[in-house]
Parts: sequence; C-alpha cells; structure tokens
Amino acid sequence: MTPSYDSIASVNSNKESWNLMVRVVRLWYVKNLGSNKLPFSMEMVMVDKNGDRIHATVRRSLIYKFENDMKEGEIYNFTNFGVATNIGEYRTTKHQYKLNFQYATKVKKGADKLVSPHLYVIANPSDIFAGDYDTDYLVAIELDYDGKAYGSKHNLCIEVDLQSDVYYCLGVEEEGDSPSPAICMLQDTSKISIEDDFLNITPMTTIEALKDMKMETSLVFCGVVKVILDEDDWFYTACICHKKGYPDEKMYFCEKCNKHVVTVFPRYRLKLRIIDSTDSSTFVVFDRDGAELFKKSCSDMIDSMGPKSNGPPKELIDMVDKTFLFKVDTNVKEETRYEKSYRVKKMTDDVDVIAKFKAKYSVGECGSYE
Ligand SMILES: [Zn+2]
Repeated sequence: MTPSYDSIASVNSNKESWNLMVRVVRLWYVKNLGSNKLPFSMEMVMVDKNGDRIHATVRRSLIYKFENDMKEGEIYNFTNFGVATNIGEYRTTKHQYKLNFQYATKVKKGADKLVSPHLYVIANPSDIFAGDYDTDYLVAIELDYDGKAYGSKHNLCIEVDLQSDVYYCLGVEEEGDSPSPAICMLQDTSKISIEDDFLNITPMTTIEALKDMKMETSLVFCGVVKVILDEDDWFYTACICHKKGYPDEKMYFCEKCNKHVVTVFPRYRLKLRIIDSTDSSTFVVFDRDGAELFKKSCSDMIDSMGPKSNGPPKELIDMVDKTFLFKVDTNVKEETRYEKSYRVKKMTDDVDVIAKFKAKYSVGECGSYE
C-alpha cells in the first residue's frame, strides 16, 4: 500500500500531525549580522505535487538539528509541524498558514519522481511594476542575462546580483558575556594579594577617565554602588560551557554549543550602577567574582535563600551605598550604540585597603579627588 500524504492545500491549524511529501524549492538563512552569530532562522518554500506552496521556518535553536539533512531542490517527507498564520512582510506564499519546525519534526528523504521540479509560478514583471501589486509577497521573476527584469509601465528595472545570495539582514546587539574559561585562566591574578593589586600593580583611574580610555587594559578605581540594575536577573542559567542557556522545548538551547542541553547550573551576573565624583556607569560582576564577593557559589546562594524567597539575595541589596575598590577592563573593543558596560574583574570592600587607596590617590571622604 502506498502511504497517503496530506496536500499542502489542506494544511490548517486544527492539528500538528501533518504528513507532507514536498520539494524544497527555496532554502535560505536569515542572517544575524553580529560576528560569528548563529543565523536567526532557516527559511524554506515547499511545493507539493499539486504545485501548491507553503512557507516553513526552522527557528535558530533548531537549525543544527535539520540543516545537515536538508538541501534546496530535494524532496522530503516531513511530519509533525507547528502550524501558524502566514502574516507579515515578505510572505513567500499566498497560503493562509505557514509551518514551524519543532524539536519533534521528522525529515526523511523522498524519491525524486514524487514532486515535479517544474512547478514554479513565474510572475509577469509588468504586473509587479504596475504599482498596485501586494509588495509583501515574494515572487519569482524571469531575468535577462544581465540579471535584470524590466517593467514597461514606468521604465523601472530590478537588478538582482546573481553572484551572491540575497539575505534579509537584521542586527541585534547582545550584551557581552563571561569570557571563555581559557581567557579566565590567562587573567588569573589570584596569586597576587588584593592590596598589591589595587595599590601597587594596577593603574588607578576615575569613571570619567575610564570612559575615555582608548587602550585595552585593566584599571582600578574607588566607587559607590548606587543601584542594582535588573535586580531580579542577578543570575542566569548556564550551560557547562558557561554560556547562557535559553529555555526551549522543555530543555535549554546553548548558542555556543549549538545544541539542546539538559545540564545547566546558575551563575552570578550582577549589574551595578556605580558612581564616583567624576561620573557614573554600569558594571557587571560575573560568576567567579560574585562567588568571591559573597563567599558563596551562586547555587549555594539560591539554596540558602529557600524555595519561597522572592527577589534578589539580601547580600546583593546590602551593596547599595557601600564603597568598594573595583578593578575593571577598559572594554575598548565593544562597539555599541548604547552606553557601554564594564566588566568587574575584582572588587573589595576591605576597609584597610580602601583607606590606603584613598590616602595614596588623595581621594576625599565623599569620593572626590583632591
Ligand atoms: Zn554550551
């Protein structure tokens, strides 16, 4: 008995157990302009033997599961999809619905004869240039040898670069994250005493001077914690590689490992607004430094707070209005449209060291520089 497949025309949102035999006529990635970032999504247009088309999306966290199994132009049997309404700009099909791949979606290679390769719908360029065309809808047009399509009405011309792939380009800015373990080891100065590090080894700065630095280096300054930013986000759920894991499909997706992970653990990420007499800025304390500061690992901190606790730990709230010495990176490399944040590499509230620092650099009682 030959298996029966659902037709694309019959796809609706009443169920997820669709069983399609289709040719992937277009496959592309929505690129993330950030360097070395995973694409936002993998997009496809599928056509079945009746010539009906439907759009399908593989979201970022699932690309690794499907990208090696699928090629443009090939025939596949797909089962188990999410079905969503086909709305928005740049629709590739007029189908009322589109398909969203899920973790459980199955892909099997199909026989080439099952869907004809000659099922393109070619639009007439003069219809597109007429002006009342639905511009949210993507079409195929035939190009001349120079990659141009001409519209007669307004003497318009579309030029298509046949040498390169065309992407929809989107950019996001993501906050910096904890460096890789290898970098941590290079920066490990734990054998140097706090006093030596803050008073004798690392050059002193002010927040104002820190913002003007053009060189990648570490500096120390004396400042007061004014506000805990995003105080409910004082930790994040990390993969074993230390990158943030995003909840997805009842597991976590790690962008760095590019896979789903189940083993995750909490890590500190404290965002502090710190002020001195010259300026103020945002500083981030990551896991190792947070554990040193609170003398407690992040998971121990969560355990000690008990299951019913709300909000951040008391130790974090108690930092507000307290004076510390901070050792920070100048963070010259980070290009951002927003105000920069700086990574705290070490901090201390040791009153003796703070007093010596203030005496050495003539810092007044209220943090002013004399
Ligand atoms: Zn990972």
